[in-house]
Amino acid sequence: MCGIVGYIGNRRAKDVLISGLKRLEYRGYDSAGIATMESEKLLISKTSGKVEDLISSIPVDMHNGNIGIGHTRWATHGRPNDDNAHPHSDNSKKFSIVHNGIIENYNSLKIFLKSKGIVCKSDTDTEVLVQFISYIYSEKKLSFAETVRLALKEVVGAYGIVIMCDYEPDVIIAARFGSPLLLGIGDNEFFVASDSSPIIEYTRNIVFLDEGELAVIKQSGYEVRDINENILISKEIEKIKYDLEE
Ligand code: GLU
Repeated sequence: MCGIVGYIGNRRAKDVLISGLKRLEYRGYDSAGIATMESEKLLISKTSGKVEDLISSIPVDMHNGNIGIGHTRWATHGRPNDDNAHPHSDNSKKFSIVHNGIIENYNSLKIFLKSKGIVCKSDTDTEVLVQFISYIYSEKKLSFAETVRLALKEVVGAYGIVIMCDYEPDVIIAARFGSPLLLGIGDNEFFVASDSSPIIEYTRNIVFLDEGELAVIKQSGYEVRDINENILISKEIEKIKYDLEE
């Protein structure tokens, strides 16, 4: 099982993402990567191998933005190589996604995209999803959050995803169906992760996303919606009592 980390706040996102990915290493994985928002443009670094390989592939002064997503991959669709590592982006490079799980209808979505002239660069089911989200955005001209919600309604399979987009550079969106995902509620900062280990050194206030929920997260606050019904859901903040060692 692979790992997801996301951050929005005043810290350098890269530091939170890398230390979070290291905490998730126990899950086992074959590739690692991060994407950060740099002056309203996405910057992606990824590699097959270990988090240490990722660290040594990134110059120390690269990735200084305060918003970002990170991933350790356990390949299900496509070999463990640099192209198939997450984060994935669409062809316009405006959207970037990390994903845990399997998009079961990726092949029919891929054929549909191909009929629209959109060809994927990797072998993953995940890239198909981000290309599809980008396609819906260009067709429907809706908000980032509404675009992701509509795209997810067409998805069959399991996912925990976190996604960013150049068009709304101050937002990250997290959504879950079948793969765990939780939010860490800090002071003027938010975290997303596939388990609490990357979060609890910063905050013990946790919101567990339930099946079929989507969170729209800005530094000023967050809201959670039901993906199918688009209704706002009021979530309880739970206090995590255990320590990292436990
Ligand atoms: N199905 C995706 C892939 O093969 C995600 C795998 C995972 O959960 O790490 O890239």
